[in-house]
Amino acid sequence: MIAEEIKKIHAELPDGVKLCAVSKFHPAEAVREAYEAGQRIFGESRVQELLAKVGELPSDIQWHFIGHLQTNKVRSLIGKTSLIESVDSERLLELIDRESDRVGVVTRVLMQIHVAKEETKFGFSPEELLEYFEQRRFQSLKATHICGVMGMASNTDDITRVREDFRLISQTHRRILDIAPDLRNFDIVSMGMSGDWHIAVEEGSTLVRIGTAIFGERVY
Ligand SMILES: *Cc1c(COP(=O)(O)O)cnc(C)c1O
Repeated sequence: MIAEEIKKIHAELPDGVKLCAVSKFHPAEAVREAYEAGQRIFGESRVQELLAKVGELPSDIQWHFIGHLQTNKVRSLIGKTSLIESVDSERLLELIDRESDRVGVVTRVLMQIHVAKEETKFGFSPEELLEYFEQRRFQSLKATHICGVMGMASNTDDITRVREDFRLISQTHRRILDIAPDLRNFDIVSMGMSGDWHIAVEEGSTLVRIGTAIFGERVY
């Protein structure tokens, strides 16, 4: 089942779009099954769960952190991820940078954009993010590489609204590149989940994050 879904999605994704298999709340055996089907990028939303899986699973897995990261958990996460997708405040970014510098690693991150209409979602507004790059505040980072943006569409059946949300995320990514064309490898637009990834890809996603469609429903 898992292997079939992985292969199906890989076959459907256009060139240049990567799959992050979101394995949160699913056991290590499920990750291993996906791994054996060729999947290498996995997403987790809780630090403890990610660290436990890192210890149990093959070392060539690229772990993405995709959840809200509490500042008191940063230290234990640094050095374990290939990408932290969910940087949702400048304070968090600065902390990631300080910790990475302290231990001598470069941490790759995405800036999380908030466009969805839900009030509980974390992230920068497009305006805040544009201002951050306009003022070139990223230049003070010593050990963090900002590789692009991550976002979610509104949780709604209104496909027009979902498409607009993705379009705004893509557009913000392009505007940042216009503002700061010297940014290196700022090329990831992470958007699209189980229910909406086809639309996200049409609107310019380069990284989809799919959980339920691969692993089934999560039991919390
Ligand atoms: C859980 C989660 C996903 C995966 O959602 P599915 O609907 O299960 O595909 C993607 N992105 C983020 C940020 C998540 O927290």
